[in-house]
Amino acid sequence: MTPDASILVLNCGSSSVKFAVYEVGAIEASDPSAAQPVQAALRGQISGLPASARLDWHPSEAVPVREALSGVSDHASALAWLFDRLDHSPRYRAVGAVGHRVVHGGERFAEPVVVDEAILAALEAQVPLAPLHQPHNLAGIRAGCQALGSRAGDVKQVACFDTAFHTTQPALHTTFALPLSMRERGVRRYGFHGLSYQSIAERLRAIAGERAEGRVIVAHLGNGASVCGLRARRSHRTSMGMTALDGLVMGSRPGSLDIGVALFALSTLAMSVEQLSHLLYNESGLLGLSGISNDVRTLLGSIDPRAALALEIFCERAAQEIAATAVALGGCDMLVFTAGIGENSPAIREAIVRRLAFMGAALDASANSAGGPLLSTPQSAIEVRAIPTDEESVIARSTLAAVRAAS
Ligand code: AMP
Repeated sequence: MTPDASILVLNCGSSSVKFAVYEVGAIEASDPSAAQPVQAALRGQISGLPASARLDWHPSEAVPVREALSGVSDHASALAWLFDRLDHSPRYRAVGAVGHRVVHGGERFAEPVVVDEAILAALEAQVPLAPLHQPHNLAGIRAGCQALGSRAGDVKQVACFDTAFHTTQPALHTTFALPLSMRERGVRRYGFHGLSYQSIAERLRAIAGERAEGRVIVAHLGNGASVCGLRARRSHRTSMGMTALDGLVMGSRPGSLDIGVALFALSTLAMSVEQLSHLLYNESGLLGLSGISNDVRTLLGSIDPRAALALEIFCERAAQEIAATAVALGGCDMLVFTAGIGENSPAIREAIVRRLAFMGAALDASANSAGGPLLSTPQSAIEVRAIPTDEESVIARSTLAAVRAAS
């Protein structure tokens, strides 16, 4: 791929498709360990799937464009529409590869991989482990193959995995207390949000200096939420497990749950597996607790006591997972907040750090309101920071490397 070619990055979620275009030359000229990630030439997203799809993007530097996508109700048609729009951009004509966020790589995929039919089938087999995300990720790959297959002939599709960053976890933190017969079938903790953690880990030394090499806990608080303990900027323990259901309370997932609740639902309540799955992935978490919304902004703006209780439980559980991760690391030198809630909500950060005062954590109120980047007082035993994550630039860089390695 020449420096004037581009990499298209696709992050296909349940109701949205985020996309970004990177120039190969810009990726080559940038340093992955710099404080700022490489800038995308173009960014946008299709949201509101399936009922009211719309496209928001900046096709040129100047004006943001929003258009309703009539007749678009699934990922395949959304991507066909997107490819059609991008087709009019000179940058898109030079796309040399497409990088996709794929949530679950299972035991087999510890590195980004160029996708072919056999690999697509292997990724399909992981769908039951990530039913909320993986089908949409794979729909993006299929749409990419379909739209670009006949084009230059060798526009490769690369899968980049959220599980891959966590392959450095020791067995102590990946092994369930289950019989060997289950563990032999790949039933273990994998962990997710790895592309986000990689984005923070790569840049953390430039941002925070020597302390970055110590015991660092990153709290990725978005619609999905998890924490990850880093040692020497590698994953040592994370709160998500075999699936993305474990750990913190999330937008519509309960996080860690007494497994007896699932047995009760299946036996006493006679729920089907599909009903239980829908309950756990789509109806629980902040949405289930509040009965109002999965969106933290909405809940923060509500005077309904159910919203307040939902947020209290969210913060309590986040603090508990951070403390549990500190046990795994043998302490904590730095706490980093990232993703939609972590980067943007002083109130949630304050409610979490207040619960960690027993570990010596103390926020500077005005720095926290201003969004940092350094949020803690000079006396705090734990340095607290807010750092924007950038999964797309990690995918772009990994995609370029995978394509080059494969050719
Ligand atoms: P993400 O999945 O990373 O896009 O994060 C989505 C979550 O971030 C939603 O719950 C949003 O309500 C929340 N969020 C985004 N901006 C803010 C903000 N300014 N204050 C509070 N929550 C926010």
